[in-house]
Amino acid sequence: MKKGYYSVDDIREALRKPGYVTPLLKGLRYTFKMFMSKDVTIQYPTERRQISERWRGIHRLLKENDKFKCVGCGLCAEVCPPKAITIVTEESEEGERYPSKFQIDELRCIFCGFCVEVCPKDAIEYSKVYDFVGYDKKEFLLEKEDLVNPEKYIFQGK
Ligand code: SF4
Ligand code: SF4
Repeated sequence: MKKGYYSVDDIREALRKPGYVTPLLKGLRYTFKMFMSKDVTIQYPTERRQISERWRGIHRLLKENDKFKCVGCGLCAEVCPPKAITIVTEESEEGERYPSKFQIDELRCIFCGFCVEVCPKDAIEYSKVYDFVGYDKKEFLLEKEDLVNPEKYIFQGK
């Protein structure tokens, strides 16, 4: 087979050979059909797809009356298979237990759902955030203040 430069005559000769024109026309027909059909792509990130209600995005820590619902019992950290949750629990002057530190390493997390299932206070749930990105592993260590509003991590484009 000839390599490199093809002259107009070479192309004409090739087109005259049987078996060249039909596939070419088929390809052009398919291209034209796709050109006229509805787009299957979207203008991400400005446009976003509807995702399943059951989607497990990065976690959210819930608050009630402006206080974390979490009482720092540590059950979620205990059942977490990759040990992605770190909790330090303290007690307030009123005798209420609360997590002074609640950190999830979202890179270690395997989104198994155990922490959400086991929580006796329904204090933790999944958000719908699926495109949390970063340049450093440390950015994926989310503290309790970060976990209140995971939507702030929705990718806006750069
Ligand atoms: S979803 Fe599973 S892996 Fe992720 S933090 Fe919860 S228990 Fe751990
Ligand atoms: S999130 Fe739930 S299971 Fe985890 S420490 Fe808080 S109260 Fe306990």
